[in-house]
Amino acid sequence: MIDLQALKNGNRRALAKAITLVESKLDTHRVEAQAVLNQLLPDTGKSIRIGISGIPGVGKSTFIEAFGQYLIKLGKKVAVLAVDPSSPLRGGSILGDKTRMEMLSREENAFIRPSPSEGALGGVAQKTRETMLMCEAAGYDVVLVETVGVGQSEYEVAAMVDFFLVLMLPNAGDELQGIKRGIMELADALVINKADGESLNLAKQTQGHYKSAFKLMKQNSFWTPQVQTCSAINSERIEEIWQMIMDYHKAANEKINAGISSFTEKRARQNSEWLDKLIHEMLELKLKQNTEVRQRLPQLQDDVLNNKTTPYNAAKQIIDLL
Ligand code: GDP
Repeated sequence: MIDLQALKNGNRRALAKAITLVESKLDTHRVEAQAVLNQLLPDTGKSIRIGISGIPGVGKSTFIEAFGQYLIKLGKKVAVLAVDPSSPLRGGSILGDKTRMEMLSREENAFIRPSPSEGALGGVAQKTRETMLMCEAAGYDVVLVETVGVGQSEYEVAAMVDFFLVLMLPNAGDELQGIKRGIMELADALVINKADGESLNLAKQTQGHYKSAFKLMKQNSFWTPQVQTCSAINSERIEEIWQMIMDYHKAANEKINAGISSFTEKRARQNSEWLDKLIHEMLELKLKQNTEVRQRLPQLQDDVLNNKTTPYNAAKQIIDLL
């Protein structure tokens, strides 16, 4: 049993236990986790959710270490979570690893949790979302969700956070960093890290390059993506980056449309897209598990191949079996 009151009071053991339920592969645990989440829901949603992405070596853990400690000095409680879609292949995740954020992991007001391994429904991202809600109920004011730019993970993280920050290396040519246009469209800010020593000038050039690139892109109504520089290792310009996120937060809350702020609207949209995704996945699972479907499908596939029936008719017959 999870002690919900202890969790809400910020007890880390209760929180860790609840997250273990979320991450469990056992059906009984899944049911229990959902029951816990349902009870915690009124206490969720109060944090600022920030996604942090970038290629391996760009400085994500160094940045989170500096940024997290800065936030703790401001009196915040900081949770660090991760979405690492490649972790099952490597047999373990390097993201959200405590040894990568040694100082931060010793802070009383920091909670660091590595990426869950492969999840069933909704995948790894689903578990991270649910973990995020639990951290919020436990009183964490800032949730940092770390990811590498692999496959869909950036999109999945962008879909669960308020602010999506992409760390970059000082390097003016974007083909070298493999930055996809899609990622620029996701980013609320690019931060050129390692703006120190000999790389300082190059970092400023890179900043200029991406500023112009953003000017050519379509902007949403209340926020123009920012391009900043920082030196995570020297904890330089960390404060400016937090200030930028605060500016975003303020702008998103002040932009009201039909009585709803852009901040609330974005979260509502994320929730409804999450719901849609789960409905699709659950339906797919039901189809896969249905014996009648499994028996009928090969014949129908043949019929479609041999022009005996249309794909539409075959699909309809399958769906009608559910
Ligand atoms: P991650 O793989 O994205 O988490 O990157 P790390 O945080 O592990 O950093 C990769 C390497 O870059 C390490 O050797 C860090 O010491 C170094 N590094 C990180 N941030 C900075 C920085 O701001 N300036 C410099 N010069 N090196 C940095």
